[in-house]
Amino acid sequence: MVSKVTEILKNLSLTVEEKAEKIAEILSALPDKGAEETVRLILNADDYVVATYAANYLALLPNLQQEKIQAIEHILNNDKILAIAATNLVKAMPDDVVNQLINKYFQNPEDSDFSNIIYEVAQWFPDKLHPFAAQFKDSIIEKVILPGAADNYVEDLVKKYREEEDPQYLQTLVYIRTDKALDALITLSKTVPEEDLEDIYAYIESSGVFPETRKASLYWKNYRGYIVSRNESPHQMGGSFPHPVPKCPVTDIPANRILTLDLSQLDLGLKSGYNPSFFWYESGYSPGYIYVQFTEDGLKGLITPMTDGEVGTDLIPGELALKLEEYPLKYGRAGEAIPGFSYHQVGGYPNWIRFERFPSCPICDERMKFLVSIDSGMTPFGKLGFNGILYGFWCDPCAVSCTSHQSYMADFDSDEDEDDFE
Ligand SMILES: [Zn+2]
Repeated sequence: MVSKVTEILKNLSLTVEEKAEKIAEILSALPDKGAEETVRLILNADDYVVATYAANYLALLPNLQQEKIQAIEHILNNDKILAIAATNLVKAMPDDVVNQLINKYFQNPEDSDFSNIIYEVAQWFPDKLHPFAAQFKDSIIEKVILPGAADNYVEDLVKKYREEEDPQYLQTLVYIRTDKALDALITLSKTVPEEDLEDIYAYIESSGVFPETRKASLYWKNYRGYIVSRNESPHQMGGSFPHPVPKCPVTDIPANRILTLDLSQLDLGLKSGYNPSFFWYESGYSPGYIYVQFTEDGLKGLITPMTDGEVGTDLIPGELALKLEEYPLKYGRAGEAIPGFSYHQVGGYPNWIRFERFPSCPICDERMKFLVSIDSGMTPFGKLGFNGILYGFWCDPCAVSCTSHQSYMADFDSDEDEDDFE
């Protein structure tokens, strides 16, 4: 096994992604999805390349906390050159290991081998770094540890915004998400200049309430998801679907069923009785939003044509499912989302690549609540067939789902357009 993996890594004709995909293919075919073998690879790795590929694969598998701890401790204790390999495992660590990682970082904060590790700690355990906030000189870390920041810090930001009217203070408030920060955004929304109103409304929405109605804009319970075999979770992904699905009006390409949530297995307080499903296709003609309504007769497309029953299978690599674990990320994640790291989420605060207003329901015209985000990147079954992040919204009274998409690509496109005008 070790030799097969080393052979793939030495193959110069393969890209990084192809290597990750081939290694996942070999490991996932083993009993226990190759968890034991992956740990063995890490314990015997003599360079960071093997350790990184193996640790990144291990990070895609649900549970296995003991194996992940064993891997991370080995990586960190044996050779700091290997530290980068541990990055993707940090989010699965229990409190005591996270505390060890923080101690290790502060033994020598200038040591760049641990900067990735501390960034991960900041993202997933921001409150643990609040006592050290003054010691970070890195503006990215300062931003990432904002969730749950103290009330006097919020007061400070409000004061500075009132004095300078610099929108960057609003962009800082949006990531704090405490009641205090939300109240501050609502209060400031009454005084911001007209051109900042849409932005601050988007911030308020992403902080937990709709600015117009003050009703909750999201579900407080937060789950993270791992893509697993169909028999490992009731929340289905990919494969066939019992009803016609949306299709591209230009190319007729059918949508993939990205995810169906089995609400009987989740504690979200939804009452419609329908299990929300989310759909997407990649046809070169981005739909912007895909809306469907769930009815007694099946699925009804809203502002989208539907197939005769055909379903796309190009975006989800197989008949899979999403295994969910409750994850106590009380105030969500801060900073712009970086897609491609297989972080899938149900409930909680949306982590946008760039802020935008939540979509409105085409039936009742009310804003829809944020419910899921499905990241791109690797799975144990191969790579997902889209870039960026898919965001799923739900109107429970109307049983309507909406799927939208953000990626870096769109950013580059709009930059190019701007250049054309100059
Ligand atoms: Zn509605």
